[in-house]
Amino acid sequence: MTDYTQVWTPLDFTADGKQCDWLRVPYSTDLSGYGVVPVPIVCIRNGAGPTALLMAGSHGDEYEGQVALAALAREIDPADVRGRIIILPALNAPAVEAGRRVSPLDAGNLNRSFPGDPVGGPTAMIAHYVTTVLLAMADLAIDLHAGGRSCDYLPCALIRSGGTEKELRELADLAVAFGAPVTSISDGSGGGGRTTFSAVGLGLGVPVLTAELGGRAALSREGLAIAERGLLRVLQRYGILSGTSADPASPTRFMRVRGRGAFIYAMRKGLFEPAAELGAAVEAGQLAGVIHSIDRPWQAPESVVFTEDGMVACRRAPMLTEPGDCLYKLLVDVDPG
Ligand SMILES: [Zn+2]
Repeated sequence: MTDYTQVWTPLDFTADGKQCDWLRVPYSTDLSGYGVVPVPIVCIRNGAGPTALLMAGSHGDEYEGQVALAALAREIDPADVRGRIIILPALNAPAVEAGRRVSPLDAGNLNRSFPGDPVGGPTAMIAHYVTTVLLAMADLAIDLHAGGRSCDYLPCALIRSGGTEKELRELADLAVAFGAPVTSISDGSGGGGRTTFSAVGLGLGVPVLTAELGGRAALSREGLAIAERGLLRVLQRYGILSGTSADPASPTRFMRVRGRGAFIYAMRKGLFEPAAELGAAVEAGQLAGVIHSIDRPWQAPESVVFTEDGMVACRRAPMLTEPGDCLYKLLVDVDPG
């Protein structure tokens, strides 16, 4: 694809071997008129074969994927590769540097900025380059996330519905190889809609697996291990990597978001005291938590209840809560057949 982009790299995607460099995203400021935002990128290629695009740090405060991909980039020997692996452990680098979900440069939320804009701010330019250059070269892609500061996630993979039956089967195979305990089949109604990386992957016919590996802006060792083993298994499954061995995948439980009722929101400001743990099976009408008033502590706290049955996949992390904050996301099992 030859779309206009201002992002460039000296790295040659057609060259064999391991190359480590930056994407350079133009960002002109008072103290750096010709400055660029450096986005680290590693390309490992060995002859013809499929291309895997592996990304983390789309949101800066989500860490398991950043650590897993940096380690993978260091450890892979190009001699063990057939095809090409492109690794970006800190995709929205300014957000990663700041430990934030969004970029401090333009308040850009990278995984709500797709397909991007070649003449937008740094975040939009990164999204556009990923869409038109990197995804265009890819045969599969993995985008590693976690709950960030605001959420805690049960480790799970996510795949998008909405493609053909063949595409969904390929995504399901990818999820089985990745081997997260749970795989959520999503239609994008949870918030991302058409603005996520997985949505542009669906549009371009490239299978994209997203993973949520932990949260609270901390590092989950369980999530990190799932990412490390899952990445190796997927690369082996596609015939891109040999010479390393990963444990066989544990079975994944396919689940889905039933609809908007799966998301429980706060209706008032206060301190959120949760009543259900991650992974818990809950029922409609069951207490989800209470919100304590800060300015009228003599008032009874407001109860929040679940409105559907399901399993708690995600829960708000900070106690301090505003109206409109999401408190829980529930998943239900995919109907057999
Ligand atoms: Zn994220």
